[in-house]
Amino acid sequence: MSTKKIITCISCPMGCDCDTENLESITCSAGRKYVQNELTNPQRVVTTTIRVKGSNGRSSSLLPVRTSTAIPKNDIFKLMDLTRKVEVELSADSISSIKCGDIIFKDIGGSGIDLIATSSK
Ligand code: SF4
Repeated sequence: MSTKKIITCISCPMGCDCDTENLESITCSAGRKYVQNELTNPQRVVTTTIRVKGSNGRSSSLLPVRTSTAIPKNDIFKLMDLTRKVEVELSADSISSIKCGDIIFKDIGGSGIDLIATSSK
């Protein structure tokens, strides 16, 4: 039985199966870079929700967000702890005008990572 480790590259829709022990066999440089990153420092864009509260203190809802960049997999739980504690207070007008792609929270926990809305209100 072979123990060859194969990683499916997700850098483009081709979804090539890449041999991690023979990077030269990977069809393109983007794939080689993806596999190298997966082996040494795998990173992911994280999607979650944060609480958004109206400045009148009455309305509160969850807003779907994503990180502005991919973050190391080892930091995902730390980020999730931070997002759980976040409650963004906005005016009622601001809440109703949130658009997909808006930066909702800048530099969470001093990480340099922003949280970006993934849906409109
Ligand atoms: S190896 Fe290259 S062609 Fe294949 S999925 Fe990755 S980026 Fe696309």
